Amino acid sequence: MRYSEIGFNLEIDLSRGNIERVETDPRLTELHLGGLGTNAKILWDRISPETDPFSPDIPLMFSSGLLVGTPAPGANRTIITAYSPQTLLMGYSMMGGFWAPELKYAGYDKVIFQGKSPNLVYIWINNDKVEIRDAGHLHGKGAVETQEIIRKELNQPNAQVAAIGLAGENRVYTASIEQGRSSASRLGLGAVMGDKGIKAIAVRGTKDINIARPDEFIELCNEVLKYIKFRNENPVPNVMTILQGLGSPQEMLHIDEKWHTENFMWGNARVRRREFWNKEIEARWKEVQESVRTRLISCYNCPMKCGAIISVPGLSTYMMKCFSKLTYTMAAFVDDLDFGFKIAQRATEYGVDGFSTPQIMAFAFELKEAGILTDADFEGCPPDNEGRSFWLLDRIVRREGIGDILADGTYWAAQKIGKGAEEYAHNNIKKHEQLPLKLGMLNPVYFLMYATGEKINITQIEGQFPQVPFATMEEREEFVRDWIQVPDEKFKQMVLDWEPRGERSNPYYPTVDMSVDIVDWQEKMHYIDDVLGVCTGLSSFPLKPPYHIHNYPKFISAATGIDMDEAGLTQVYNRNRNLVRAINIRRGLRRSDEKPPQDHWKKRFPELEERLLDAYYKFKGWNMDGIPTKETLQELDLAYISEDLIKRGILREEQDTPSKKTSVETDKK
Ligand code: SF4
Repeated sequence: MRYSEIGFNLEIDLSRGNIERVETDPRLTELHLGGLGTNAKILWDRISPETDPFSPDIPLMFSSGLLVGTPAPGANRTIITAYSPQTLLMGYSMMGGFWAPELKYAGYDKVIFQGKSPNLVYIWINNDKVEIRDAGHLHGKGAVETQEIIRKELNQPNAQVAAIGLAGENRVYTASIEQGRSSASRLGLGAVMGDKGIKAIAVRGTKDINIARPDEFIELCNEVLKYIKFRNENPVPNVMTILQGLGSPQEMLHIDEKWHTENFMWGNARVRRREFWNKEIEARWKEVQESVRTRLISCYNCPMKCGAIISVPGLSTYMMKCFSKLTYTMAAFVDDLDFGFKIAQRATEYGVDGFSTPQIMAFAFELKEAGILTDADFEGCPPDNEGRSFWLLDRIVRREGIGDILADGTYWAAQKIGKGAEEYAHNNIKKHEQLPLKLGMLNPVYFLMYATGEKINITQIEGQFPQVPFATMEEREEFVRDWIQVPDEKFKQMVLDWEPRGERSNPYYPTVDMSVDIVDWQEKMHYIDDVLGVCTGLSSFPLKPPYHIHNYPKFISAATGIDMDEAGLTQVYNRNRNLVRAINIRRGLRRSDEKPPQDHWKKRFPELEERLLDAYYKFKGWNMDGIPTKETLQELDLAYISEDLIKRGILREEQDTPSKKTSVETDKK
């Protein structure tokens, strides 16, 4: 009997219309656990690195995590994986909500799509019965609207539906996959779904999941619930409001946006409005937010309420998550929050990423002001900030006129536009738009996360360690007192010694070695969440979360019966981390790609930055170009990867230096 996982995947070949329920190898669960780990293994095994993200051969995977659907609070993530059309690297994006638990109750750990459907279709998974259905009538429908239509036509109000909007159908590189109160937004996987001809996947399941040691498991779940209650009643003191609690930082609860609106850059991530927030703005924003926010809502089996149902008069209802209420407002330089709620409604129906898309729009307006784009590119565009934002969003999603070029994101659009447009695509890492946060002094920990992260999304790499030092020793001592989540006591000393100014401050403190340790811990927690399918909002993202490296092995052991301890879990993390890196190395990723935007910090330290990268690579067991060495791979049961990299001339048998320099920069040309 398989525990916690189902042991079967659903394989759908869209070109041939073939559907199969395929038993999986339990050994792979021991090696990779599930979710991101087994997705990466399938991606490595099934396709050659030369494959185009829009090739029919690309497997598009919708995976649950190992703990998803069990009583573990917050275990509800869907991990979606393919190659990203924007970065050309492995694209993996997480979705909360209810979809993955429903998939497991239907009797599958993953759905793997290959091939392409000649017509637009949707998939209906109803326990053992799986159908590919015509979706001709859903062409051009909104992502939220589609979910409702499908539920109605199936007469299945409890079906969970993941859908794309027009952006996905048109292969816009920032297209998202929307579902209930959540979405998989980053890295353009909605475009891959649209390219395969899939409008939506509806799931209904009524089966059970087996747990190896149920009593022990329920006790662990109760401890987590108790801790969540404690943390909700005892917020972390002396840190900014959104870092005090759990969950994905509770944007829909908070009204006070002083920190974001004054510290994040407006427009195309260039303009800071230091005096923006005042009493009048706060009162206006409070009124608007409370008038449109009809209810706060949670994902499956989670007591936190990070999302909200939004009803703007005259527009259809949608669900807002995370940060979209601010990103469009700030990109368009609009002072009224109701604009943000209105445009986010259209953007959600279109199905686009709320971080990248506003930046692409502001980038286009900057190019127009600089004379690089012309009036002809904006023919018919209204003059006001609100009107022109709606106008351009429509053009991008429909791939009309200049919108067709912009739909590939700022990096690729700048390459096509030329005439110096590259200078304006300034907020990318690995060709993908980043948070519009620009700071003064280089932070060594964040430098490493930005540079080396392969999730390509800083908010899903950071966490655990405070973002800035505490001002006083009393505050530091208070913070470390109940810090049970640390994997090692040395992290407490780092917090105690970290000063806002002087010798023990950024950029030289935390030291290079400490920075590497901190980043490794943060990454480890994210990788574990992504194989288990637990929301980062209860684990890797907030300070002092309920899940951590000390209780996760107990959860895994009790759920699956696999004998897991901290060392074993660290080994699985390292294996999956190196597997993801190897996939990207085969796609051409190299050290030269690992650099934050040049203007991310005002004060840069090139020599220190090189040392940070060197130390990080060394710690990981990689050579100085960021490629895992043969020894590292062999120690992690990944000898087949080193053999492949040697065969391809990327690694040499006898030495760790790479023999062949490539980069994703050049591979697409
Ligand atoms: S913490 Fe928030 S985002 Fe995470 S599962 Fe719970 S409700 Fe969803």
